[in-house]
Amino acid sequence: MMFHEMKEKDVEKVLNTNVKHGLTQKEVEKKRKQFGWNELDEGEKQSALLLFFSQFKDFMTLVLLGATLVSGFLGEYIDAIAIIAIVLINGFLGYFQERKAEKSLQALKEMSAPQVTVLRDGNWTKIMSREVVVGDIMRFSSGDRIGADLRIFEANNLEIEESALTGESIPSAKNTEIITKKDVGLGDMNNMAFMGTMVTRGNGIGIVTGIGMKTAMGEIAHMIQNADVMETPLQRRLEQLGKILIVVALLLTLLVVVVGVVHGHDLYSMFLAGVSLAVAAIPEGLPAIVTVALSLGVQRMIRKNAIVRKLPAVETLGCASVICSDKTGTMTQNKMTVTHIWSGGKSWSVSGTGYYPEGGFYFKDNEIKPQNEKSLYQLLTFGLLCNHAELKARDKDFYLDGDPTDGALLVSAMKAGLTRESLQGQFTIEKEFPFDSNRKMMSVVVRDKNNRRFVITKGAPDVLIGLCESVLWEGRQVLFHSEYMTQTQRVIEELAGKALRNIAIAFKPLDNQIDIQSEEEAEKDLIFIGLQGMIDPPRPEVKQAIKECKEAGIKTVMITGDHVITAKAIAKELGILQTNSKVLDGQALNNMNVDELEDIVDDVSVFARVSPEHKLKIVKALQNRGHIVAMTGDGVNDAPAIKSADIGISMGITGTDVAKESSSLILLDDNFATIKAAIKEGRNIYENIRKFIRYLLASNVGEILVMLFAMILYLPLPLVPIQILWVNLVTDGLPAMALGLDQPEDNVMKRKPRHPKEGVFARGLGWKVVSRGFLIGIATIIAFITVYRQHLDNLAYAQTIAFATLVLAQLIHVFDCRSERSIFSRNPFGNLYLVGAVLSSVILMLGVIYIPSLQPVFHTVPIIPRDWLLILGMSSIPTFMLAGSLFVRKKE
Ligand code: ADP
Ligand code: MG
Repeated sequence: MMFHEMKEKDVEKVLNTNVKHGLTQKEVEKKRKQFGWNELDEGEKQSALLLFFSQFKDFMTLVLLGATLVSGFLGEYIDAIAIIAIVLINGFLGYFQERKAEKSLQALKEMSAPQVTVLRDGNWTKIMSREVVVGDIMRFSSGDRIGADLRIFEANNLEIEESALTGESIPSAKNTEIITKKDVGLGDMNNMAFMGTMVTRGNGIGIVTGIGMKTAMGEIAHMIQNADVMETPLQRRLEQLGKILIVVALLLTLLVVVVGVVHGHDLYSMFLAGVSLAVAAIPEGLPAIVTVALSLGVQRMIRKNAIVRKLPAVETLGCASVICSDKTGTMTQNKMTVTHIWSGGKSWSVSGTGYYPEGGFYFKDNEIKPQNEKSLYQLLTFGLLCNHAELKARDKDFYLDGDPTDGALLVSAMKAGLTRESLQGQFTIEKEFPFDSNRKMMSVVVRDKNNRRFVITKGAPDVLIGLCESVLWEGRQVLFHSEYMTQTQRVIEELAGKALRNIAIAFKPLDNQIDIQSEEEAEKDLIFIGLQGMIDPPRPEVKQAIKECKEAGIKTVMITGDHVITAKAIAKELGILQTNSKVLDGQALNNMNVDELEDIVDDVSVFARVSPEHKLKIVKALQNRGHIVAMTGDGVNDAPAIKSADIGISMGITGTDVAKESSSLILLDDNFATIKAAIKEGRNIYENIRKFIRYLLASNVGEILVMLFAMILYLPLPLVPIQILWVNLVTDGLPAMALGLDQPEDNVMKRKPRHPKEGVFARGLGWKVVSRGFLIGIATIIAFITVYRQHLDNLAYAQTIAFATLVLAQLIHVFDCRSERSIFSRNPFGNLYLVGAVLSSVILMLGVIYIPSLQPVFHTVPIIPRDWLLILGMSSIPTFMLAGSLFVRKKE
């Protein structure tokens, strides 16, 4: 028999589990030994060896290796071996860079791996999805991705979207009934839930019947491709740029070779020099360094609690011009505490802080016993019955498991001595209609010990008020006529004005025969009991973060399902509401199409009483205005907006799997300030990439021009091939990497967001590369000529001087690249990685020049101390010239 044909009891027996206590840790371990982890087999990975060899598949490197072999046959053994060694080292460098990039991307994937809630040893615990075993009792609710195959034995309004399996995108309703029909397909197994499908509504509990490859999903696993496009726009642009640069480098090299041959150099040595030059000048390491810089930046973001799920987001973050953020939990602490209670013309205040379940009730400053106030006590009791949250004690502290709004109501009831346990004998919950932010309500059907039945509904007061026909006023049930209505309305607005989030509670008696099927049936003709108002303090760091965003040209927009007045009060406190900014509510949004919204959206800072569906409209309108939009969300219904935003952001703590999967950034701490930190990091990563592109390309231009100048001026080769390759190794190596680790400039968050279409060489970078490369080339050739004139008989000495000048000029230039302004705008030695990289490069250079056994390999001659003055002077000229010109320009 299959699981869907069995009774719950039989499934329990067959799988050797217990739906009340779950499995014990021992049983779990035993089962895992037997059946393994709950994971799908992944496709093959590129082997390390293959990755290593792929470093050499580049055409010019192959030509170089070929040419080297030829020169080896011709007897130039030392040259040949040295060149091959350098090519190998370069290969290793590329290999390690790519490995590192790959590893950190893998780590990222693991960090955002899904979790599930299972019953183990009698406690509901969150575990990684891969730790699930057959027989586990698993709980799930709207927004979760099902982590294994399950037989459902409890379902409340449960709907699951199974398109991943069946292709059917309309969610199917689930229940617990046995299926007796034979040969039902997956799509009709209504008492089963399958791995990889998505809960879109309601909640439920099931027994795990299959894990890993032994699931319906596992059977088709080979057909599923979850290849995410991980390439960023910049990487794509660099790839195109790379092709152009290769052509340019080859043409210039060809020019060098042709001019050299025409001016009397022999073809063979020009060929080898040309090939070496081409290898050096082609920035083949660029894509790998970009990936490393991106992934290192991503790791820095993780340390700041932001997980990037899609690499392109790193760049887009730097372009963000609007952040649309949820209020509750993201801008506020989501630690709600009931402070005010109102019922039928009477109000009380409640003391105590946070979720600590101790505090008193006060009427006009006098402490009272809540048991003696009928409607107050009823309000507290009903708030506890229509409630899912649980309070757990840990190390003398209390923490909440569940929705914070529910938590506040739970705690206020506990302050009156009510607990879920104490209510268990008196009331049973027959049915539940879970909270959903479209309805902004939740309801339960309850039976009490006297067999009386009733509905309890709690939710947004301004919504609930319209569904009530009577009200409890000073203990008596009266028709909710306009006088009471206005008074209640006034109280709602007054409490909202204190930045309180208000929940109204209502009920209605129910005949025994009536079986309520839908929330519409339950949530009408109610009797209004009263309100509980709760504070949700802003997170302390958010105000400053909003201010910094503003300075960075980024507008912050608050989005909330809360009351307009509550939202306004908090927005004012956080500095979001400016004098001329507007507040728009859900109703107004309903009456507008995207075009109409587009006309005013730039002035709106707060959207209140909105439903998740409105978010999409907001994103579209902002995008139509040319904004790059970051949008947060946590629920299933937020997914479309998160997906269509330029940067979709989901919540690490409260976010559902669905929201997380549609997002490109996850906030581990749900905190708005983390968005700001991520944007700052995103801007910095982009600037760092610009920094080393600038450095690498200027260096390459310098290398080519030295050779070209020499050929044009009828001079001998200023650098021998192995020296060119060595220079390339140093520049492409540590200093470039260190630039990728540079700290942000102090003005990163004082500039406007970058335009997303901006090219790599925008904002003067192209000019900087060319002018700087030109100066490096000139300085090197001058040093070469000066010494060559003095030692006509000693070409190797002049070449060593040129070599040292070129290397030093690049190593000085690298400090310049730290700032787009000038070297003097920040402490040049602030980046210790860079200082270390440059120092070790200098030491390596000195080794090449002064270690006798290396001299024949690199064709070097020891430089006499006096000539270092010349080298230092020439190599620092470019920096001083450019800094000087900047200085002059500023004075003008
Ligand atoms: P937010 O964007 O502030 O989180 P929600 O959409 O979650 O807004 O909530 C909207 C309104 O619904 C709240 O102002 C509150 O009145 C009501 N509400 C919130 N949570 C619950 C709940 N668990 N049960 C009943 N009503 C709720
Ligand atoms: Mg909410």
